[in-house]
Amino acid sequence: MSEPRVFLPGSTIGVMGAGQLGRMLAIAARRMGYRVHTFSPDEDTPTGQLADREVAARYDDAAAVRDFARGVDVLTFEFENIPVQTVEWAAEHCVVRPSAQVLHVCQHRLREKEFLDQAGIPLPGFMAVGSAGDLAAAVAELGLPAVLKTAAFGYDGKGQRKIAPGDNLTEAWAPFVGTGAVLEQFVRFEKEISVLVARGADGATVTYPVCENVHRQHILDVTLVPANIAPETAEKARARAVEIAEKLDLVGLLAVEMFLLADGGILINELAPRPHNSGHYSFDASVTSQFEQQLRAVCGLPLGNTDSLRPAAMVNLLGDEWAGGEPNWAAVLALPDVKLHLYGKAEPRAGRKMGHLVAFGATTAEAGQRALAARAALTKS
Ligand code: AMP
Repeated sequence: MSEPRVFLPGSTIGVMGAGQLGRMLAIAARRMGYRVHTFSPDEDTPTGQLADREVAARYDDAAAVRDFARGVDVLTFEFENIPVQTVEWAAEHCVVRPSAQVLHVCQHRLREKEFLDQAGIPLPGFMAVGSAGDLAAAVAELGLPAVLKTAAFGYDGKGQRKIAPGDNLTEAWAPFVGTGAVLEQFVRFEKEISVLVARGADGATVTYPVCENVHRQHILDVTLVPANIAPETAEKARARAVEIAEKLDLVGLLAVEMFLLADGGILINELAPRPHNSGHYSFDASVTSQFEQQLRAVCGLPLGNTDSLRPAAMVNLLGDEWAGGEPNWAAVLALPDVKLHLYGKAEPRAGRKMGHLVAFGATTAEAGQRALAARAALTKS
């Protein structure tokens, strides 16, 4: 087997997708002397604002994708709703990490669940649903409550519906007609946690401390690191993430979202083969941020130290914070131990991720209180 290719500083990294994850990767890459090109259908994007080159073209424009790939040394993606075909076109001209195969599994909820299930990884009970009849059969098998989710192109709770006893199944199915879907058992979890794992081209792995995540309306709201869980549970969660990365034969970064049960059991909710919102704290609070780690992994470099420098908390800033006008940035910047991140998005729509705050503390709980107080200060008159 030939040695995996290594891309040293000075190389050009291509990023498919151009949101805030690519933006923070670009910051990490440029800091280390890499060039960054980004490709998405849009212009003046969060990533494009930081990149050497921004290409605005459709993902199904084969000529544009090939041209883009010829101009970079190694290509990665910052969200998983990129057609596999696009990545395959690119792979004819440059190294692509993670592989199109990893993208294929992780961009489709049913494929991802079947992969995990076949790998013997515990996850909530699920069944494929393609019709109202399938839904009735799945409800009979899995019981209620349950969550119906689209198989593809879902994120942040979009394309999801909880089904409770007594709900009309035909009505529940109506918005899903024409899509593939998955019915999943509703999990009464103790906590939601996530683990970031990076795997290098040589098979080496590192994991980050476990994150504790609180969602609001299906969107991540607060992340606390390290999670307030038993050390043996944290070890188990980290080992599980490594196991999944190895079984996927991943080269790159993977976020593993998990449900922690009252008995200490762990069920896998979702995989994302890229940096993750729950890892944003690492930009300020870790020896190696998740973005630098993604860069190291896809470039074939040694992986970095994942230790946290201080307990930290991250809160998201959604467009809703702008409802009463421009937030009071000065109030937040006056606070010690709080860092402000904004993604350069012009339009603050409700539910749109516009930025985040990271706060530090002597304990995770203190960091969490500071982060929430900082966010509240943004809109206090
Ligand atoms: P997802 O996009 O699948 O990660 O779902 C977004 C959020 O919805 C999760 O982080 C949970 O808070 C909640 N959720 C999703 N699936 C389930 C489930 N099967 N049981 C309980 N809560 C769920």
